[in-house]
Amino acid sequence: MLEICKEFGTPLYVYDAEKITKQIQSLKNAFSDSDLKIKYAAKALTNISVLKHIQQQGCGIDVVSINEAKLAIKAGFKAEDILFTPSCVDFNEIVEGVDMGVYINLDNLSVLEKFGKKYGNTYPCCIRLNPHILAGGNYKISTGHGNSKFGISVFQMPQIIEVVNKYKIEINGLHIHTGSEISETDVYLKMSEILFGVARDFPALKFIDFGSGFKVAYKENDMVTNIYDLGLKLGKAFRDFYESYGRKLELWIEPGKYLVSEAGYLFVTTNVVKSTPSVTFVGVNSGLNHLIRPMMYDAHHEIVNVSNPVGGQKVYTVVGNICETDTFGSDRKLNEVREGDILALMNAGAYGYSMASTFNSRLRPAEVLIKGGKAILIRQRDTFDDLLRGQMEID
Ligand SMILES: *Cc1c(COP(=O)(O)O)cnc(C)c1O
Repeated sequence: MLEICKEFGTPLYVYDAEKITKQIQSLKNAFSDSDLKIKYAAKALTNISVLKHIQQQGCGIDVVSINEAKLAIKAGFKAEDILFTPSCVDFNEIVEGVDMGVYINLDNLSVLEKFGKKYGNTYPCCIRLNPHILAGGNYKISTGHGNSKFGISVFQMPQIIEVVNKYKIEINGLHIHTGSEISETDVYLKMSEILFGVARDFPALKFIDFGSGFKVAYKENDMVTNIYDLGLKLGKAFRDFYESYGRKLELWIEPGKYLVSEAGYLFVTTNVVKSTPSVTFVGVNSGLNHLIRPMMYDAHHEIVNVSNPVGGQKVYTVVGNICETDTFGSDRKLNEVREGDILALMNAGAYGYSMASTFNSRLRPAEVLIKGGKAILIRQRDTFDDLLRGQMEID
C-alpha cells in the first residue's frame, strides 16, 4: 500500500475490487435458496469504474437521482437493472426515469397521484412504505421511523389503495428501507411481516425489496448483520409468503455499505505532531472535506500507521487540516507517529468520496482501484482549476 501512496500521492482513496466481489458472493451464498436480486445502492460510492465492476458481477443498482441513473447506464447497467428511489424530487425527474425505462419507486402519496394521472396503467411502479420501525446506528441514518420523511406510512394504506384503484396503477413491487447499520435479523423479519401483510392487496407484484442497512464491523467486536442467518430466515419467510400469495416473486436487497465499505481505505500523510499539556495531536493532510462520517455520524474508523507498523504504541488524537473541528479519532493507540508517516483510515469505501467536498478550497483526493493485481487510477486528484470551473469573475 505504501508503494501505491508513493505512486499516486496522498490523500488517496484506494478500493479493492476483490473485496467487493467477495461481499457480493457472500450475499449470493446466504440467499442461495431465494431468487435474489442485488441492487447496489450507488450513492455509497459512485466512481464509474467501481459501478462497472459491480455490474460485471451481475448486480443491478439502486439510484436516488436521475444523474446516478445516467451514471449507471454509462457503467453498463441496463434500464431494467435500475431501480430509481427518489425522495422529494421534482416530478420531471421521475418522468425522465420513466423515459429511460427504469423501475420507479415512489415514496409519497402526492407523487403517486401525479404518477397515476400521467401514466394510468401504462407504466408500473413500486411503493416505498414507512413501517414505523426505529432501527439503525444513528438517528440521522434511520429512515423507517414514523417521523422520517421516507416512505408512505403503512397507516396510510387505505389512501394508497384508493389512488392505485382510481388510476389502475400497476404496482410491481413493495419496498422498505429502514436505514443504515441494522444488526438485528429480527428487524428485517418484522419488516417482512408488514410487507407480506399488505402484499395481498397488490396482485401484480414482481418483487419485494427489503432495502439494506446491513452493518459491517467498523471496529473489533462490533455487532454486524449476520448475513447467513438473515438469508436463511428471511428466505424461508419469503417462500412461505409467496406460496400463499400464489406466485413466485423476486427478493430484492439494496446493499451500499456492505459491498464497498471494507473495500476502501483513505490514506493520509502526517503534517504535524503537536503535543499540548493534555493531548498529542496528529494533524494530517485531509479532513472532514474528504471523510465526513466521523463528524457527521460519530462514526468510528480504525486508523493504522502504515509507515511505522512496529513502532511503540502511544495515544493520539488524529485530526484534519480543515478550519472546523474535524477529528478522525480521539485517544487512539497508534504505533508511534512521526511527521511524514502515512496513516490509513479503514472502512472508507462507503460514503467517503461520495460525500467529499472542496470545503476550505481544498482539492478532493484521487481514487485508485486495485483490480487483477494492479493499482489503477480511476479518478484524478482535483486541480486548482477545478475550484474555479464554472465561476464567473465580475468586477
Ligand atoms: C442509502 C440507501 C441504501 C443503502 O444503505 P446502506 O446502509 O449503505 O447499505 C439502500 N436503499 C436506499 C433506498 C437507500 O437510500
